[in-house]
Amino acid sequence: MMNMKLSKKLISAMLLGICISNFSIVDAKSSTDKMPSSVEKYESQKQKLLEKNRFAADYQLSEDELKVDRKLARLKSMSDVNYRPDLPFYEFVNVDENLIESDPLFQFIKAMPKGSNLHTHSSALLSIEKFYDLCSRIPNLRIDLDGKIPGKLSTSEGIPFNEADRTKVLKAWTIGIEDSDKRAWDVFEDQFRAIGDVFWIDPQIYREYYYLGFLEQAQDNLNRLEIRCSTPDWESGDRGKLAAQLLLDAYRGVQKDYPDFSVKIIVPGHKGKSTIEKSQQQFREVIEKEQYLQREVKDESNDFFIGVDLVTEEDAGYPLDTYVPILIEAKNKGFDFDVYLHAGESNSPDNSMMLDAYLMGTKRIGHGIDLFRYPELAEKIRKHKIALEICPISNQLLGYTSDLRNHPAYLYFKEGIPIAIASDDPAMFNVKGVSYDFYSIVRAWDLNLAEIKQLCLNSIRYSGGSKSERKKLESDWRIRWDKFIKSQIHESDSK
Ligand SMILES: [Zn+2]
Repeated sequence: MMNMKLSKKLISAMLLGICISNFSIVDAKSSTDKMPSSVEKYESQKQKLLEKNRFAADYQLSEDELKVDRKLARLKSMSDVNYRPDLPFYEFVNVDENLIESDPLFQFIKAMPKGSNLHTHSSALLSIEKFYDLCSRIPNLRIDLDGKIPGKLSTSEGIPFNEADRTKVLKAWTIGIEDSDKRAWDVFEDQFRAIGDVFWIDPQIYREYYYLGFLEQAQDNLNRLEIRCSTPDWESGDRGKLAAQLLLDAYRGVQKDYPDFSVKIIVPGHKGKSTIEKSQQQFREVIEKEQYLQREVKDESNDFFIGVDLVTEEDAGYPLDTYVPILIEAKNKGFDFDVYLHAGESNSPDNSMMLDAYLMGTKRIGHGIDLFRYPELAEKIRKHKIALEICPISNQLLGYTSDLRNHPAYLYFKEGIPIAIASDDPAMFNVKGVSYDFYSIVRAWDLNLAEIKQLCLNSIRYSGGSKSERKKLESDWRIRWDKFIKSQIHESDSK
């Protein structure tokens, strides 16, 4: 009986299937039926689609800007640098340091006022040659090129610094082809360990390092640097105050020559301490220190210290939600600070730290590469205008996107999610300022002037500090931008 029932069901299902498929065959239209009836109509529809899918900037370019946009198009098409966005960026800076710098397109980008660099880490701020020169002036400095951490600086181990081979030293401190068989993050973290102790030899060296680092940013035509920067204690009980004062002093030194340049400090905690409790305790101390320094060390706007962050290799350290209790505790104590969290710098499909960063109230997101995993969150981030700090060269060299043409941030940009271009760790990548990152994406994404202008404006609109400071920052930037446009037209006319 059972079999009979089954077979009846089977037969009816089969009949139904036949009917449905017959119906489909009768009713179906060919997929090409909607195709335009002529090649001309096809081309016109394609143009309309292209227009709709182009990035839409917030504004129209002026007549003068359009002239400069045409110049930019010429520079892109005439570039002699055989730049390939699918090759690691060190291929273009380690072999011939003048290759990119001599490209008129790079010079255009360098001269362009780029707004704010919103994401750089203090130990990687100064370009590696300048850092080398600074080290060569430190008495009794030694370097160990063959130890466990190649290029480790100290006052006790290795050979005198000035006796070491310069090329070998620079190789040890930067990522290059010789590191391609190792895990990028291991090389990278060793490089931080190699140079990290030099900052604490002497307050004057500390001040000099930051003066030169800030100066390099100003000379790269940036109005603002917001830097992740630790301020450890010079003496016990100092609570980072001397370091903070030296940072402020270094910044004021640069302001003498670049009065519209400013610096803000974000104090980072570390997500990779030995135990969860120790790591949480360290973040608690970071928040307390930031609050103390915010009160004690003030710039002209009383806002030198703008917040805290949590850093380390995201797929290896503790997840962000480890620190939720500490943030809640700080909030309950009435502490007043912003968070600027690293998140989404991950290759792991189950990483959900972008969600944590959003829920923890982040002002901006450091990286945010894997936002594509969370389309609903992406919508919230767009709506609440939480900018992503995109660092193209870093993302490529640390293994998150090997071909910059396919960097997901290009899609986020087109979808109206605010992104700003930043440099992360220029020293280890053998670049300086943020011009190289702009160069890489101007070429990889074939950006026009409207798109570039939007990126510059984003970097300013999502800067930290007060609303009135941001307004001033934007008006200062506009003055520079107008001058830049005029100078570019003048240059073109005189050729
Ligand atoms: Zn970073």
